Amino acid sequence: MTTPLRLFNSLTREVEEFRPIREGEARVYTCGPTVYNYQHIGNMRAYVFADTLGRVLSFKGYDLKHVINITDVGHLTSDADAGDDKMEKAASAAGKSAWDIAAFYQADFENDLERLNVRKPQHPRATDYVPQMIEWAQSIEAKHCYRLDSGLYFDVSTVPDYGRLARAHTDQGESRIEAVAGKRSPLDFAIWRTTPPGETRQMEWDSPWGRGAPGWHLECSVMSGALLGFPFDIHTGGIDHREIHHPCEIAQNQAHEGYCEGDQTGARLWMHNNFLIDRTGKMSKSSGEFLRLQALVDRGFHPLSYRLMCLQAHYRSELEFSWENLLAAQVRLKRMVMGASNLYQEVESLAHHLAATSNVQALDSTFLLRAADITNQRLKDIVKEFETALSDDLNSAVALTLVEKVLGLKGANASERFAVVECMDEALGLNLENATLSRVALRIRPTSATLTEPEIEARLDERKAARVAKDFATSDRIRDELAAAGVEVMDGDPSFEWDWKIEL
Ligand code: AMP
Ligand code: ZN
Repeated sequence: MTTPLRLFNSLTREVEEFRPIREGEARVYTCGPTVYNYQHIGNMRAYVFADTLGRVLSFKGYDLKHVINITDVGHLTSDADAGDDKMEKAASAAGKSAWDIAAFYQADFENDLERLNVRKPQHPRATDYVPQMIEWAQSIEAKHCYRLDSGLYFDVSTVPDYGRLARAHTDQGESRIEAVAGKRSPLDFAIWRTTPPGETRQMEWDSPWGRGAPGWHLECSVMSGALLGFPFDIHTGGIDHREIHHPCEIAQNQAHEGYCEGDQTGARLWMHNNFLIDRTGKMSKSSGEFLRLQALVDRGFHPLSYRLMCLQAHYRSELEFSWENLLAAQVRLKRMVMGASNLYQEVESLAHHLAATSNVQALDSTFLLRAADITNQRLKDIVKEFETALSDDLNSAVALTLVEKVLGLKGANASERFAVVECMDEALGLNLENATLSRVALRIRPTSATLTEPEIEARLDERKAARVAKDFATSDRIRDELAAAGVEVMDGDPSFEWDWKIEL
């Protein structure tokens, strides 16, 4: 594998060659969810992106260390320094403890990650790192912070070039971080929020600045440093983090690590995924009702169709969500799964043939054939193109077309083609070769459907019999009845691999 990996660095706004800080290793930190509620599908785009980046790093041969933190304290209801803690607010609304709320939504998040085939990263929880956060804050307090009654604040004028990542200029004034009485600059941010006298928070700790809770930005600096070591290779998050959260993390890293000369920020590359947009406004948690992965599943979609939909777009482009796009992704995924499963069957029959005629060793080596051992020149060229596409700032859209090319390739040996598809799928994470992702699993089946699948199949059998008997009146009647129940019969369209679908 010789194509250098090139990635867009938000710091320089340029595509740069990835050069690992430690030979052969890639250390990646991804800002994780605030577990006060379910994640919406926009949030999940951020983790599909981070996982795809991680998979590509592994594909390129790097030993990957990936951390996605869990924010279970400290994130306020806006990026402001004033207001309620999201966790505390959700807990009091639900009449539960903030700890229970965090545990519930963390488990739900992890379940979504699994459904999206995100490989297991490390998931440190902010509340497990509070002593380290206090130590960190103490170490930078004298040079970089000041105290107010409401807590300890970071003075952004004490580090070079605050806001470089956001391309924000400190002299332009700042409306994005709400003013807190007494702050020297609106850009300054809370490191520690002291609980006001007479109040008690569910999540609070003793500190040199009084009982209280850490500011949100602190946790990511502390956990990334503790788990990956500074400087590490790549820090990721959604594009909104480029504006406030990551500039604040960088300021803290500069203060703590003494990066007050030069352009060291704690991570070599800062990467951001663009937003998933939903014109119907269902992507904002503040609106109360928002689209979750489960809502897609309830409408009958497979979670991996959502992953494929994300991969069809470049991570730096906005992606508009629509049910039509999702349906198109599911149809595409289904074709890919069928192609992979047909290929697997070919390989299996070949293996049985080998087992009958040869020894077990031969069988194993057939199955273990990896892309590196490919002999067919056409396949080798496609693998190279695939690697080039992903090395070009993760061009997953082109990479997908190359998987399809291998699935449809005539003349190459099935074992080699299957090995290539497996290897490509490791990088894209669509689970193509997994028997659980079958054609049937990819049929659209909303949980709200009025007819069960066996009922639909039984009606279709009756209809088939009517057609054989040339009783077209009955056949049409059944078709109309099914249509009234939202089931579209798919006959007459050979490009469709299923007999029926439920209309969205
Ligand atoms: P939060 O729990 O609000 O911190 O968000 C978790 C992650 O989702 C962060 O990386 C956000 O930047 C990202 N994010 C939030 N909304 C969207 C969206 N609509 N599309 C893509 N990423 C998003
Ligand atoms: Zn973060």
